Amino acid sequence: MASNITLTMIKPDGVADGFTGKILDHIIAAGFKIQAMKLTRLSTEKAQEFYAVHKERPFYGELVAFMTEGPIVAAVLEKENAVEDFRKLIGATNPANAAEGTIRKLYATNIERNAIHGSDSDENAAIEAAFHFSGLERF
Ligand code: GDP
Repeated sequence: MASNITLTMIKPDGVADGFTGKILDHIIAAGFKIQAMKLTRLSTEKAQEFYAVHKERPFYGELVAFMTEGPIVAAVLEKENAVEDFRKLIGATNPANAAEGTIRKLYATNIERNAIHGSDSDENAAIEAAFHFSGLERF
């Protein structure tokens, strides 16, 4: 059964480029409720842990450097079918392939600096939500 939550991060490029408000508008307009949210910054160790699934990939080092270069906005979002609907809202990993109107099409720069993260499964959404937030920080 779908857990109805997903974990997002507005990545360092999205925050530094001043797109936090516009991206949150898209998320809220699409019907997601914010359960938890914070401005934070990943340490190298935490970024390595978050992206451990990619550690054998050639871009792992660059990805960790990018994700630690500045603050991010992390949030737990709630909606029916949250994981799948949010992946549709953000669009393809590479903004060149992202559908018109998606967050990555509108605000991403390239396949790495792609403005936003969205969990890829209910299982990972639960793991990633617990990575960023305690139960007391979720409403
Ligand atoms: P996502 O689920 O759409 O975020 O994509 P992935 O899980 O495949 O990749 C995680 C993140 O790694 C992406 O969002 C990008 O920031 C980055 N990334 C993915 N593919 C590449 C690549 O080919 N090169 C680089 N430099 N970064 C990549």
